[in-house]
Amino acid sequence: MKQYDYLIVGAGLYGACFAHQAGLKEKRCLVIDRREHIGGNLYCRNAEGIHVHQYGAHIFHTSDREVWEYVNSLAEFNCYINSPVAIYKDRLYNLPFNMNTFYQMWGVRTPAQAVAKIEEQRAEMAGRTPVNLEEQAISLVGRDIYEKLIKGYTEKQWGRACTELPPFIIKRLPVRLTFDNNYFNDAYQGIPVGGYNVLIEKMLAKADVRLGVDYLAGKSDWDTLADKVVFTGMIDEYYGYRFGKLAYRTLRFEEEWLETENFQGNAVVNYTEREIPYTRIIEHKHFEFGTQPHTVITREYPGEWCEGAEPYYPINDTRNDRLYKQYSDLAAGEENVIFGGRLAQYQYFDMHHVIKQVLQLKSTI
Ligand code: UDP
Repeated sequence: MKQYDYLIVGAGLYGACFAHQAGLKEKRCLVIDRREHIGGNLYCRNAEGIHVHQYGAHIFHTSDREVWEYVNSLAEFNCYINSPVAIYKDRLYNLPFNMNTFYQMWGVRTPAQAVAKIEEQRAEMAGRTPVNLEEQAISLVGRDIYEKLIKGYTEKQWGRACTELPPFIIKRLPVRLTFDNNYFNDAYQGIPVGGYNVLIEKMLAKADVRLGVDYLAGKSDWDTLADKVVFTGMIDEYYGYRFGKLAYRTLRFEEEWLETENFQGNAVVNYTEREIPYTRIIEHKHFEFGTQPHTVITREYPGEWCEGAEPYYPINDTRNDRLYKQYSDLAAGEENVIFGGRLAQYQYFDMHHVIKQVLQLKSTI
């Protein structure tokens, strides 16, 4: 009999949630991670009371009651509502695109005026199906908003022209004819009180955890420890990149500690001009309504991923999706390995998607 039922590679959300579900069934789990901390990209560092989202801002949102009740059974969530502000050439605009934005952009005050303006603006796309992100954006909100709030941000984020990007990236941005700055359409939203580590620690409470260890460097030894492996790392790396490397966008974070109480008045401020090299500034304390006398801000610079950098956004274009299919066909043949999460499934999941997937596996764990 092996020492563990599951060896879980990766202490991020998928791995931690899996360990929690397995623990509920009295299964023995060993969770390992290359990094020196748990939580994967959800990890928060405590900077004198401010929980710094060290690998990018995470805002929990879902419309799935089961998922919401599950996370609330593990941690208390505050009532943070994400309402980013965009800056374009020294003017501020509310996001997502709503009556506030339309007023700021065109001076229109009623939904009827806004609709008329948007219709006029999107006329150039009349009768045509968008084939790229630029066309999708114009047919959604028209050229002014596209040029000022979408084009520069998106081209920085993806490192490609909007005419070379697929339309679906922009589809998730809501367009509203109400004065509602809530970025998400979901029924439930919030941030765990005390930061995400609280949630992950609860999930991992019954598991053994070893940090700062490399699974792939000693795979055959690790594999002797458990009946099954749950792998949440990069699927192409698991297979030694034998078909080639999957592409990602990476992020570089520039963090600054400021002896001021309130730097920008909002957790998320997007910089949508192409000329400014970062996409946004996060002021972490506002996620938890912090009142500290100091603040911590992070500028986010997107870049092309290369080996050794952190992979963030999968680039789901035709080439990469085809390549991923080759790896996932191999993975489907592995009897004792479960591949889960953003890196192993090469898909940009929201947190609630990850949790739902694990909850759906529950009966098989
Ligand atoms: N986006 C944009 N302008 C903004 C914010 C977002 O054009 O001010 C577009 C951009 O194409 C981006 C997509 O919306 O890739 C999704 O952005 P979101 O902020 O939802 O993604 P996140 O990186 O936070 O998951």
